[in-house]
Amino acid sequence: MRCPFCSAPDTRVIDSRLGNEGDMVRRRRECLTCGERFTTFETAELVLPRIVKRDGARDAFDEEKLRAGMLRALQKRPVSTEEIEGAIGRIKRRLRSGGEREVNSRLLGEWVMNELRELDQVAYVRFASVYLSFQDVNAFREEIERLQTGKRQG
Ligand SMILES: [Zn+2]
Repeated sequence: MRCPFCSAPDTRVIDSRLGNEGDMVRRRRECLTCGERFTTFETAELVLPRIVKRDGARDAFDEEKLRAGMLRALQKRPVSTEEIEGAIGRIKRRLRSGGEREVNSRLLGEWVMNELRELDQVAYVRFASVYLSFQDVNAFREEIERLQTGKRQG
């Protein structure tokens, strides 16, 4: 959240409470640069849990980043925008309905893989190859074998 007074990028939340309607959060913030205080009203959309990355850093959930990653995997695949948006909507609902304040990026990655597996297997393999290579090559190989076995049976 940028400071409206000096545009500094870093502000600190000093108080946070639910608004009357329950889906708005009122936040009192303080600019770390100029020290000005201001109030923001943020909708539930912005109250999604933070993402805990592999190195332990916390990051706000970034829907555009999620969409970009999925679109990269789905490039030139026969999947409609509507289907992609549906998948993104389901992922966001899962993020919200868990009621957690933080969600591990690994879990988020698994949800994305589950959605892609339903949408398009090529996109799924593309995403999984990039995503899983960071943690476990064997798990990826097993997944590919599982998919191939599934195809033979189906
Ligand atoms: Zn400021």
